[in-house]
Amino acid sequence: MKPSATSGGVPVCSCCSEPAVIYQPASQRHLCGRHLVCDVELRVASTIKNESQIREGDRVAVALSGGKDSTALLVIFSRILPSFPGSELVAITVDEGIAGYRADTLRAAETLTKQLGVNHHIVSFRDMIGDDLDTLLTGREKEACTICGILRKKALADAARNAGATVIATGHNLDDEAQSVLMNTLRGDLPRLIRDTGTGSPSLFLPRIKPLAAITEKEIAAYLFVQGLFPVLPECPYTKYALRAEVRTMLTRLEQLHPGTMHHLADSKKRIEEYCEGMAVMEPLRRCQECGDPCSGDICQVCRLRHSLGK
Ligand code: SF4
Ligand code: ZN
Repeated sequence: MKPSATSGGVPVCSCCSEPAVIYQPASQRHLCGRHLVCDVELRVASTIKNESQIREGDRVAVALSGGKDSTALLVIFSRILPSFPGSELVAITVDEGIAGYRADTLRAAETLTKQLGVNHHIVSFRDMIGDDLDTLLTGREKEACTICGILRKKALADAARNAGATVIATGHNLDDEAQSVLMNTLRGDLPRLIRDTGTGSPSLFLPRIKPLAAITEKEIAAYLFVQGLFPVLPECPYTKYALRAEVRTMLTRLEQLHPGTMHHLADSKKRIEEYCEGMAVMEPLRRCQECGDPCSGDICQVCRLRHSLGK
């Protein structure tokens, strides 16, 4: 590998002579802030085009938590979507009702959507199920992320349909994808490992896309940081119960010791999906007998959860 040029001991950008802010092991390039911003936006635009994630006339609902990934996604979309004819952008934030966390992230989401001039919808667990997450979790704190995930998915899908969206975009990055592969493997959950939320019957589900799936968490943080857009926000208090937090720590260490680990894990998901194509790995989809939502059994996860919560 050609040694990187330096200026006063600091590596310089592979595209110009400005000081670099990041090194990309995959491309073996150092990039300055300006070229990192261009690179990230170009790669997201080509992912959307190559994977036909957005079609002409789509109304795209960005799931905006207010955190860094969804902030980056909305900023990038507000810049690149005008080149997709007839497409429109709307942001949706789910208020789970988590004290000490959600109020700040909601404020950040509202400020950002105002700055970007994007239509913003907020939906809450309280409106959907009658209580906030903190109350629902009394005595079940260890199940926080499972319960939160089931309800958030439903809240987001309903809000996106109500907003007239034709596709839902989430801010999952490469690190998230790698973590999910490992988590589902650790749980022995093959169907969930290969279940791609971006596919399926559009009459049953709004398609879900992950335009940042090839961008690393580090690149996203740097992308926001160099533009003064990095949101400094509290962490969800239930993170400590999440398997994802442990997997994240483990993968970060593995990536340091064995660069490329996260790429390999994320790629393995695609290979497993290709291998399983046409196999009956998943239960066929049916309609929930209680609410009519699509599900794989007689009753959907949300209805089952409602029963267990006495709702
Ligand atoms: Fe929900 Fe868990 Fe994320 Fe908190 S960490 S917002 S409980 S999924
Ligand atoms: Zn149901």
